[in-house]
Amino acid sequence: KRELYFHTEKLHVMSELSASVSHEIRNPLTVTKGFLQLLSVSKTITQKDQVYIDYSLKELVRAETILNDYLAFAKPQSIHMVYADLKEDMEYVKNILTPFARFNNVDITYQFSNSLKRKYDQNQMKQCLINLLKNAIESMKEEGGILSIHVFEQGQNMVIRVEDEGIGMTKQEILQLGKPFYSTKTEGTGLGMMMVYGTISKLKGEVEVQSKKSKGTIFTITIPT
Ligand code: ADP
Ligand code: MG
Repeated sequence: KRELYFHTEKLHVMSELSASVSHEIRNPLTVTKGFLQLLSVSKTITQKDQVYIDYSLKELVRAETILNDYLAFAKPQSIHMVYADLKEDMEYVKNILTPFARFNNVDITYQFSNSLKRKYDQNQMKQCLINLLKNAIESMKEEGGILSIHVFEQGQNMVIRVEDEGIGMTKQEILQLGKPFYSTKTEGTGLGMMMVYGTISKLKGEVEVQSKKSKGTIFTITIPT
């Protein structure tokens, strides 16, 4: 039996972090990383100092990962509400993640109806889709599997269905989804699902999670048009 839950109202404490903040943080990170990399190949550096540099670089990469989970598509002009096509954005995101899927032995199947248009923040939506697909792929990283994506229209709603054959979740784990910094991964940020719930609830949509441990998970997102 699959566990079935609806999350409509999720707190999204940090979801208003503006895009310009991301931009302002990313630049100094990149610069600092560059100088540290230069230092680390310097001939005069001691072994002990090398260890400090390596730690610093690792922490910088971690900071970048957090930005990527949260603000990968953010642009300095911040909110970007446009009349956009969900089907096209999903296709774009799927293409970006195809190499990552292949690397993890995951095949992607993709089904969609005709174009599905409505007004939404395109950067946020892309980020939300990336986070969903990335989690699905990561859940299958041991054995590989199939990631199936469906995007379709149902009555007055558009529906996104993302199904994986990964490790799945228990009822308790499902209830943790969307809490800031909740992660079961060694290198996880625990920000991806918070972003997903934040984006979908802003659109008055609903996220349904069905999951079974070691079988897989289905996320069904319903957004009114
Ligand atoms: P992160 O991916 O950095 O861990 P997320 O907020 O994206 O953070 O996800 C939080 C947690 O939710 C993950 O660590 C994982 O335990 C669980 N999770 C999310 N999506 C899936 C999925 N498709 N299959 C199994 N577990 C999932
Ligand atoms: Mg994630």
